[in-house]
Amino acid sequence: MVAPKMIPNLNLYVGPMFSGKSTRLLQQVDRYKFAKKDIVCFKPKMDNRYTQEGFIVTHGGNKVPCVLISTGQDILDFFKDKELPDAIAIDEAFMIDDIANVCLNFFYDKRIDVLVSTLDLSSSLSSFEEVCTLLGHATKIKKCKAVCTVCGSDASYTMRKDEFSNSDVIQVGGEDMYEARCLRHHSNIEI
Ligand code: ADP
Ligand code: MG
Repeated sequence: MVAPKMIPNLNLYVGPMFSGKSTRLLQQVDRYKFAKKDIVCFKPKMDNRYTQEGFIVTHGGNKVPCVLISTGQDILDFFKDKELPDAIAIDEAFMIDDIANVCLNFFYDKRIDVLVSTLDLSSSLSSFEEVCTLLGHATKIKKCKAVCTVCGSDASYTMRKDEFSNSDVIQVGGEDMYEARCLRHHSNIEI
């Protein structure tokens, strides 16, 4: 009898900055390691926060080694002459060009688990097209919330502190540049 094919997972951790997306991703990476499953982590080259090249780093300081990439194709190239792992984990996916199709390729064709952590909205409240694509195919979505830096309520938005806060250009930064805000305290929203 032919062994049944494994049914893979496509798990997304989405939400604003500081909402624990990378923390949750790294918790899952830890679980794969304890289960003695191979998992390879990736993050965008342009994410140079905390000067930890070659690591996914959370705002709380946890970290795991990762491969730095610029495009989804870099993930395919990485595995060209290697055996596939049981899973891949990708942090800050919204910064990586052509990431959605590559995630879908690993999920549907290569049939391995794909774990993704990403912003779903920019600081000017536009959604990221490739993230929207992934949301439609996900087997599990965790919408994470931060704490509003003004009032302490749940924060679903990221606010850019400088004068260019309406810009859609991706600008890498941490607490120096961005804050988590609730609906009431985001400067681009009036309620
Ligand atoms: P993300 O990947 O979503 O940006 P991380 O998982 O890297 O978030 O970091 C989450 C951690 O950020 C929290 O556990 C907390 O220690 C810290 N943190 C800093 N500012 C905030 C905030 N405004 N709300 C919630 N957590 C915050
Ligand atoms: Mg993160």
